[in-house]
Amino acid sequence: MLLEVMLVAALQAGAHPAQRTMREAPKPRASVKTPARKRPVRKVSRKTGPRVVIDAGHGGPDGGGPIQLNGKTREKDITLQVALKVGELLSARGVDVIYTRTRDTLIALADRGKIANQANADVFVSIHVNAANPHWRDPEAARGFETYFLAEAKTEDARRVEDMENESVRFEADADVSANDPLSFILRDMEQNQYLRESSDFAEIVQRRLARIHPGPNRGVKQAGFRVLLTAFMPAVLVEIGFGTNPTEAQYLASQIKQQQIARAVADATTEYLERYQRRVGGSAGTAPGTHE
Ligand SMILES: [Zn+2]
Repeated sequence: MLLEVMLVAALQAGAHPAQRTMREAPKPRASVKTPARKRPVRKVSRKTGPRVVIDAGHGGPDGGGPIQLNGKTREKDITLQVALKVGELLSARGVDVIYTRTRDTLIALADRGKIANQANADVFVSIHVNAANPHWRDPEAARGFETYFLAEAKTEDARRVEDMENESVRFEADADVSANDPLSFILRDMEQNQYLRESSDFAEIVQRRLARIHPGPNRGVKQAGFRVLLTAFMPAVLVEIGFGTNPTEAQYLASQIKQQQIARAVADATTEYLERYQRRVGGSAGTAPGTHE
């Protein structure tokens, strides 16, 4: 809870100091490639429901974190199973669903966001399974769910998850090296800043919905510099649905019935967010599920 209070205060105070400095400085123009801010106008002919990108974490040679189960199941399997269930539920509600992957394949982190941008999506949801730091006193004991939005990592624990999820980049043969450059990070972070509030609101809703069904502790809304969220210029969250390193939670995460409950909570949160967002901005996020323009 304390973290949330700090977060709200930080958001109200504006950006972190680095961002403030950058904002005051004259913005470099020609040298910095920035994506277009305005979303393209949608073609009238297209049926315009809200559009959601569901991103199953990892895939292919990038198995993600361990799942303390049978030695075979990896994070990438659980994330795909849950992501497909979320998508199925949202599709049934008239949401236009786009997956970054629907099978066991590697998609570069930067491409996941690009997929979302090209699709002109309204929100981006990335599904992951957490792993305890082996240096913790009792790593197997760590349990619970947390939702991240893109911003500078604020705590050591957030940095741990950031490093872990960004690790995927080493599986990519042609990874964008500029993503390692702190300046380009800050500039892209500024682009993302307009979605900070939206993304943190969305993350709050996800946590609240998950708290109703998840047996693990609510670890709260957190912020970190995830590469996968860096390139998605829309409200974007990354959900860690539980710890694969905790044997009880690993079993929970692998259960089809529990996966369905988790998926429903994430789908409900997405629908709730889209409805709220639509009310606030007057419909530019597409029509609410089940309604027509
Ligand atoms: Zn992951």
